[in-house]
Amino acid sequence: MPESTALNRYKFLRELEEIEKASGRGTELVSLYIPPEKQVFDVANYVRGEHAQSSNIKSASTRKHVTGALESILSRLRYYRQPPSNGLVMFVGHKQIGADQTEMVQYVLEPPEPVPTFIYRCDSHFFTQPLHDMLVEHDVYGLVVIDRSEATLGLLKGKRIEVIKNVHSLVPSKHRMGGQSARRFERLIEQAAHEFYKKVGDLMTEAFLDRKEIRGVLVGGPGYTKEYIIKGDYVHHEIMKKVLPTYIDVGDTDDYGLREMVERARSVLTGLDLMREKDLVQKLMLEVSKIDSGLAAYGEANVRHALDVGAVDMLLLSEGIRKSRAKLKCPSCSYENTETIDSAHGPGQCPKCGAQLSVMEAHDLIEELTATAEKTGTRVEMISKESEEGELLVRAFGGLAAILRYRVT
Ligand code: ZN
Repeated sequence: MPESTALNRYKFLRELEEIEKASGRGTELVSLYIPPEKQVFDVANYVRGEHAQSSNIKSASTRKHVTGALESILSRLRYYRQPPSNGLVMFVGHKQIGADQTEMVQYVLEPPEPVPTFIYRCDSHFFTQPLHDMLVEHDVYGLVVIDRSEATLGLLKGKRIEVIKNVHSLVPSKHRMGGQSARRFERLIEQAAHEFYKKVGDLMTEAFLDRKEIRGVLVGGPGYTKEYIIKGDYVHHEIMKKVLPTYIDVGDTDDYGLREMVERARSVLTGLDLMREKDLVQKLMLEVSKIDSGLAAYGEANVRHALDVGAVDMLLLSEGIRKSRAKLKCPSCSYENTETIDSAHGPGQCPKCGAQLSVMEAHDLIEELTATAEKTGTRVEMISKESEEGELLVRAFGGLAAILRYRVT
């Protein structure tokens, strides 16, 4: 479900923004990263150790805040017999809210990918870099390394490699048994190799076919086998569409080979990611440039209308949008309206009487549009704000636009 994944990623980014705004008066904000395999009691022991040491902190207010944060973490840890499947991340501490005031905040996150290492930090800001690292490359790739004797299949998710299967072939070694004719031996080898490629092809189907989120399949290995299996009739045609045209030369065909392949393909993968966003925005621009904007819709009202009638094929949203859909009401006259407002600035004044409007109800604009899109089976593509195309989407279209299935009037 790519839509929900994009939305989850976005929600997660928003939460991070909130967390990153917090600052402590001293080094008193605690960040804790717990990997899934870590024992909770080990973590609790570690935190108790820090608690004992915190009595040495010179500043009385920092000391009080740090011990408070650690106690809060300890009591929170009691809810867990073991960490959730991706581990746990906690941000706890007193953040500044005015010149002289602080407020205790506590964020407990289950990250989108497993926490790789245990981290304890106490600083004037929360330490969020590892979570950003998880979000940088959000695409999934299928991985295959193969030669005639062995193959390993895996998945690349962000920076993490998951091994799915390792298989060995029954292709006989080069040394011919006594009494066998050379030709017969050749045939045996060919037959066994054919069986092996078929088996690996089937394993690829099993591992990759149902995973719609897979952006591409990387194939590598030491010799010619990697090309042979792809060019022969061994791989499912739907998977063939995703096989990347570059074969990667690597020395091994085990999980180490997978890692080596990913290292070597890094530039290919980064390029693909950016290429995809470029393609999407260029597709939009091409439609926009046609007479009457072709199959493009832009301007929030137009996009909304197209979404409502189910005419949107693909909704493009910039991750940089920070707006809310809000139900507004005037406190002094009867004026009411639903509008899109800038999340940071809040609502404006009543057009009838000039009083400050108040917000009755508000939803994040991206979440609201994505929910509407999901109802009509519309694909949603989040465009990162860092790329040139992402910037163009924001600058020219306020961060949202749509490619339509058909023209709407
Ligand atoms: Zn009014």
